[in-house]
Amino acid sequence: MEDILRLHKVRHQYNGRTVLDIPDLKIGRGSIVGLAGPNGSGKSTMLKILSLVEKCSHGTLFFENKAITPFAKGARHLLTFLPQETYLLKRSVFDNISYGLKIRGQKKELSLCVAQALELVGLSSSFAERQWSELSGGEAQRVALAARLAIKPACLMLDEPTVSVDMESARNIRRAILLARQEWGTTLVISSHHQSWLNDISDRIVYLYNGRLLDYSYKNVLLGPWEKFSDELFVVKMTDGQLLYASKPPKAGSSGVIAPKDIRISSSPSFGNEKNISGFVTGIFADNNPDSLCIHVVCGDQQFIVNIAVHAFQIAEIRPNQKVSLTYNPKDIVWLA
Ligand code: ADP
Repeated sequence: MEDILRLHKVRHQYNGRTVLDIPDLKIGRGSIVGLAGPNGSGKSTMLKILSLVEKCSHGTLFFENKAITPFAKGARHLLTFLPQETYLLKRSVFDNISYGLKIRGQKKELSLCVAQALELVGLSSSFAERQWSELSGGEAQRVALAARLAIKPACLMLDEPTVSVDMESARNIRRAILLARQEWGTTLVISSHHQSWLNDISDRIVYLYNGRLLDYSYKNVLLGPWEKFSDELFVVKMTDGQLLYASKPPKAGSSGVIAPKDIRISSSPSFGNEKNISGFVTGIFADNNPDSLCIHVVCGDQQFIVNIAVHAFQIAEIRPNQKVSLTYNPKDIVWLA
């Protein structure tokens, strides 16, 4: 796949403190890249640099193999950003969505373009007449997304697009993103804490931690904050109420990782020093190693990737949607520095 964006030797500092340090990251044309990592890991900063809202302190952003800066002609049309805090003009939905088209000189067919953009995010064309103050949080987020999609951007960076929206809005945002890619080949980079949503939509997930890219092999990132459970164990409560156990983290807010090979999957829990969590199989994939498979399991909002040998997989008879038990040793969770 041809690269459309590339961050090369990019470092960004605020008040002399380095918050992002990316030696090299390439993003393929038409791909959907998920950006994951704890709060403060540099996701928003990276999205702002990719969409030219912020100029990196050092290094280069390449667009189609050419260095691009915030003042390059047409840059804002090519690279668009939807921030986490939705900002709508204090006017009608029509004015909000048509604004970007008008400043790009479009005068004709504004009503049609606005209706199409609304349709894309799952809102009826009658929404065009509503005032900004007449929208729910989820609707406002979808209108803000529609305003970005109306200009058919080459690349769209979305910062936590599903934060504080309901399930229906999250589904509609997903649909709109996939349609934008299908219709116009838009490339998307999306940050989200909503792990299963992000895994589901992304072709590839990039993890950031303290402004650095994590080794690709670290696939199960476990975010804090951790609470003390006993002298030896700390826990995080997952969204479905299950507890995830770990040995003492360096800090309550630390993030840990557990390798896919260190989790065992079976149809029934096992006991001893190890811990179990239950979840549902959402996917079964080939692994780089031909003797093993990759199983995706969702527990609450946390997705786990687990490796299993092909012969063990056949014996265990694991199927999609099946309830399974994941067994792990809390000591196998490695803390990120
Ligand atoms: P994330 O999106 O992963 O939560 P951010 O990119 O927002 O992370 O922040 C990365 C780091 O940069 C954090 O330590 C944050 O406090 C800091 N930071 C972000 N924006 C600014 C700013 N405008 N001025 C100073 N520090 C900032």
